[in-house]
Amino acid sequence: MTDPTPLNPAIPDPRLDSMFPTLNPAQVARIAAHGRVRPIQEGEVLFEPGDQGVPFFLLRAGEVVIVRPTGTSETLVTTLGAGQFTGEVNMLSGRRTLVRARVTAPGEVIELDHEHILALVQTDSELGEIVMRAFILRRVELIAHGFGDVVLVGSSHSLGTLRIKEFLTRNGHPYTYIDLDRDDRVQDLLDRFHVEITDLPVLICRGEAVLRNPDNEQIADCLGFNDAIDPAHARDLVIVGAGPSGLAAAVFGASEGLDVLVLEVDSPGGQAGSSSKIENYLGFPMGISGQELAARAYTQAQKFGAQVMIAKGARRLTCDRRPYTLEVDPEQRIPARTVILATGARYRKLPLADLSRFEGAGIYYGATHIEAQLCGGNEVIVVGGGNSAGQAAVFLAQTARRVHMLIRSAGLAETMSRYLIRRIEESPAIVLRTHTTITDLEGNDRLERVRWRNDQSGAHETHDIGHVFVMTGADPSTDWLNGCVALDAGGFIKTGPDLSPDDLAAASWPLARAPHLLETSLPGVFAVGDVRAGNVKRVASAVGEGSIAVSFVHRVLNE
Ligand SMILES: Cc1cc2nc3c(=O)[nH]c(=O)nc-3n(C[C@H](O)[C@H](O)[C@H](O)COP(=O)(O)OP(=O)(O)OC[C@H]3O[C@@H](n4cnc5c(N)ncnc54)[C@H](O)[C@@H]3O)c2cc1C
Repeated sequence: MTDPTPLNPAIPDPRLDSMFPTLNPAQVARIAAHGRVRPIQEGEVLFEPGDQGVPFFLLRAGEVVIVRPTGTSETLVTTLGAGQFTGEVNMLSGRRTLVRARVTAPGEVIELDHEHILALVQTDSELGEIVMRAFILRRVELIAHGFGDVVLVGSSHSLGTLRIKEFLTRNGHPYTYIDLDRDDRVQDLLDRFHVEITDLPVLICRGEAVLRNPDNEQIADCLGFNDAIDPAHARDLVIVGAGPSGLAAAVFGASEGLDVLVLEVDSPGGQAGSSSKIENYLGFPMGISGQELAARAYTQAQKFGAQVMIAKGARRLTCDRRPYTLEVDPEQRIPARTVILATGARYRKLPLADLSRFEGAGIYYGATHIEAQLCGGNEVIVVGGGNSAGQAAVFLAQTARRVHMLIRSAGLAETMSRYLIRRIEESPAIVLRTHTTITDLEGNDRLERVRWRNDQSGAHETHDIGHVFVMTGADPSTDWLNGCVALDAGGFIKTGPDLSPDDLAAASWPLARAPHLLETSLPGVFAVGDVRAGNVKRVASAVGEGSIAVSFVHRVLNE
């Protein structure tokens, strides 16, 4: 039985025309040139939920319903007629489909496989725009209705639940969430799948597998995120990291015809993905959330044919022979003619239970004009005793009522430049608090209060301060590179002109030419974004470096 509650109810919605457009005869003819025409019979199922490598179908005649099977019945998603087509963003990634397509009136379809639909969206700008917009809107709608193949049972107070929610959301995967604390369906579900409350969070994957507090890799495996990717095949370019710099390299590399694979240990977006609003990225005068920017870039990279392996980190680079190989697990080594290292850096975090709750909502890792405006004339805290903390304190003192500088040591002399120390001493708005550590963060939607302790006296103080700048440095994600490329004293990757003759001699640089801009001490291996020594920690610069590196990748491939 089909529940007649479609996504396209009788009330007109302007988005429906974009979500389920009807192509005109000239557009249909252009698509026909890329595919094969075949008849369809009533009752025929074109694809089922869970099917992989599903083709794109454009109806020339007949009718197809898109439904979501639920037990013995079906929920109608939409009805497609002549000139309309199937598919959503998983058609670009090759991931499993989430719905069933069943023919309800015989007719004819034009069928395009994955390669041909990619070629179409890349080469025909008018059709590319119509198809891409429809695919994206359909995925958004599936997410909004929770029309996925995943049920998450957990509690909003559990970190594991929050992590899984974030992983599914950042990967654009629809899911149904059942909250232990609020939903009385929980017990039924737990009984049905023989799960104890202590096993939560639990992910019921594709109605079959029950994963108890799974890690991200287990979720990706169960949902088949990476099934369409052949890891054995040698790539022109393997990019490690899908933050802004890695995704930019993927977009440029794939759009310029390179065979590109991106490895991402977590979800696309990197640090930028955790920013609630990026306001200094060119072209977004109203700002854009990091997640939205990342989602767009991820889809854009896939549109050009780049493949992205999710929840699979590079654990080792084999650099003594070419092609290089990247080990993602002991049985999987990916050969690469060139490599871009875009693994970013992790800002050192304060060891506080509620920190992640307030990140972007009172906890900041950079002090720019934007954060300064957010703080207005209020009191702020800067944590850290290095130059970045000193610069932040001096900068914020121009607008904030008071800047409390919290350091664990007895003074700044050992960690900060003399000129900054003098400015701090001369600024009446800055109060230096030595031997001081934050112990608690409090607030509801955003940070409202901070409690700190003087480590010498043991005295605690609580202050109504809603802005804390954590400037305790960042650790580059380079520990897995096992000496393959030259690093600076902080562990960041040295590139191009920053590589000294000694660095090159130590690395046995084998070529007559000097390393290209952004090239490491290993020929054909580049480093971009926050992981690179001397980088500017900004989304725009990360994107710029990722794009520039690709032009040097071409040169290396032609060498
Ligand atoms: C909360 C916050 C807010 C910010 N706000 C702004 C802002 O408003 N404006 C601005 O310009 N900048 C902002 N920044 C800085 C900006 O986000 C970074 O400069 C930018 O994300 C750097 O991009 P990246 O690609 O070099 O590295 P990252 O964003 O760090 O991405 C690196 C990626 O590599 C992955 N990775 C790491 N190791 C491996 C491995 N071994 N194998 C596979 N994958 C791996 C990581 O999971 C990550 O996804 C902000 C940063 C934070 C943390």
